Amino acid sequence: DYNLSHFGTQMSELTGVRAIMKDIIETLRQAGEREFINLSAGNPVIIPEVEKLWRDCTAELLASSEYGEVVCRYGSSQGYAPLIEAIVKDFNQRYGLNLSDRNILITPGSQALYFYAANAFGGYAEDGSLKEIVLPLSPEYTGYGGVSLFKEALRAYKPTLDIDENGHRFKYRPDFSQLAINEQTGCVILSRPCNPTGNVISDEELNKITELAKPAHVPVILDAAYSPPYPGLNFTEMTPQFGENLLHCLSLSKAGLPGERIGVAIGEPELIEVLESFQTNLCIHSPRYGQAIAARAIASGQLGHIAENVIRPHYQSKFAVLEETLDAYMPKTVPWFLHRGEGAIFSWLWLKDLPLSDWDLYQELKQQDVIVVPGSTFFPGLKEEWQHKHQCIRISLTATNEEIATAMQRLAKVVEKVYQGS
Ligand code: PLP
Repeated sequence: DYNLSHFGTQMSELTGVRAIMKDIIETLRQAGEREFINLSAGNPVIIPEVEKLWRDCTAELLASSEYGEVVCRYGSSQGYAPLIEAIVKDFNQRYGLNLSDRNILITPGSQALYFYAANAFGGYAEDGSLKEIVLPLSPEYTGYGGVSLFKEALRAYKPTLDIDENGHRFKYRPDFSQLAINEQTGCVILSRPCNPTGNVISDEELNKITELAKPAHVPVILDAAYSPPYPGLNFTEMTPQFGENLLHCLSLSKAGLPGERIGVAIGEPELIEVLESFQTNLCIHSPRYGQAIAARAIASGQLGHIAENVIRPHYQSKFAVLEETLDAYMPKTVPWFLHRGEGAIFSWLWLKDLPLSDWDLYQELKQQDVIVVPGSTFFPGLKEEWQHKHQCIRISLTATNEEIATAMQRLAKVVEKVYQGS
């Protein structure tokens, strides 16, 4: 019976995939004897080498004289100095940059960073005009659905599709004939590699987007949650991009530290200062324990090493199992298309002309004890209707090889039945 504000009402809604998660949790709770293969998870796998790295860094911190300084004191809003220093050094060395500490902001997870950016640059301007938050390539990360205090500010663009009919593969590309970035744009946000599709837009496409954004002084918020150097979840060559109107945003969540909430923005001091003030107002600063262990893992070079040699091959091999199983078991006559697996921890399947909705397919798969995520939740900000939205599912690569193979065989059977019935 409390009277919520406009923002209160909006922020108390569950957006996108969080709404589905409720149904999944309920299904698992009522499972009883049934054993579900859960391919819905966005939680990274606990990989032993990765866990060991964080445990070792913690042990070192506990034994050091730094400990009290880390947990018993407030720090600067910008972040814990040794972590900032480690990132500056590592990125300058890896990518030939000229960063200083003024180019870095540490946030409590990268989701917080997108919230700051979406509301600092998007929404209503001083003159009352609406500044849009542009998602240039839909489908996109479902978490962007809730980042703006003004829902109407979010605008996503439909992609074009590269389709390999015989190979049953496809890839989304930004549709530059439609994409508008101009004076009405507050900021651009995109993930690369992309959750949910595993797409990596090319350097050329990304440059084109930043160039489009430059004349109107629009920041491009690049979500590098799966990008090299950590977690390094790219399965194809890609060059991280920096500078000018591009804000490069890292997350340590997929590098084994989701619980510690560490996001990092790298960009021009002018952008960093805006976001830093936002953060001071909101929460003063990020917790420092996670930052202190991250500083050690990065400065020693171990995080980069483990990302490349353990984290990336782990998920890449899962994608290979998924791909092989689908190729072997999916009915040849059905127009199914797997998105090219270029990175992240998910794969994305498009079932063209699917005779039922993605939600109904999700229910059918649940009957076979397989849980995926219906694709229509991954189109935040897309205003027009598009049949394609209801023809896709997201499949997580966080299960074991056996589970993935079994689940994909069951999926193939369900798909065969569903298309036969049409
Ligand atoms: N961006 C993308 C593309 C993600 O997939 C996720 C988490 O799944 C996030 C951001 C949020 O990450 P963080 O834990 O850093 O807030």
